[in-house]
Amino acid sequence: MRFSKLRLNGFKSFVDPTELVIADGLTGVVGPNGCGKSNLLEALRWVMGETRAKAMRGGGMEDVIFAGTSSRPARNFAEVSLQIDNSERLAPSGFNDSDLLEIVRRITRDVGSAYKSNGKDVRARDVQMLFADASTGAHSPALVRQGQIAELINAKPKARRRILEEAAGISGLYQRRHEAELKLKNTEANLLRVDDVIEQLA
Ligand code: ATP
Repeated sequence: MRFSKLRLNGFKSFVDPTELVIADGLTGVVGPNGCGKSNLLEALRWVMGETRAKAMRGGGMEDVIFAGTSSRPARNFAEVSLQIDNSERLAPSGFNDSDLLEIVRRITRDVGSAYKSNGKDVRARDVQMLFADASTGAHSPALVRQGQIAELINAKPKARRRILEEAAGISGLYQRRHEAELKLKNTEANLLRVDDVIEQLA
């Protein structure tokens, strides 16, 4: 899976629709301080399912919506779309039915986030799993925030282990294990209830 295009609309300082083509090889983003270079990386992390407002340098998730300036009113929504070249068909099942994959995340004030994959509604969890399995998730070590290297040096071993697990592409497995454990607990509770009913009938 190769990222080929990033589109932003109303996301942070990118109030007007903006398209960034990600060509083969190395892509550099240059510009003066405060022009939005970090916002671009955050858009990438956000469309992959980031849920921590702090990682977006905001107090709440709606802070990613263009907040307005003295000359332009605030927007009511923000949208980021990521185009992925899937011609090698490496996307997991459910996402693997075309050569081009477009994941869109949109947040609307007072409504929240919604995701689409090639125009179809999908769950946040599915998008997070898609990228976690491809080792490029929102927490991927390939996306390095400002100050993150210092954080890493000072991090506790457990936090460092999470980074290695994301790089190894196994963080999706932890989420699945957690969900399986919850299902198991529910099933055990249901079995107890069935035992009670059988006892009453006996
Ligand atoms: P530096 O080189 O200093 O790190 P940068 O190019 O990485 O800067 P960013 O940090 O990406 O720049 O962008 C900061 C700009 O984005 C600021 O001007 C800030 O006002 C603007 N910005 C952030 N969030 C919003 C928002 N919700 N609405 C409008 N503008 C925003």
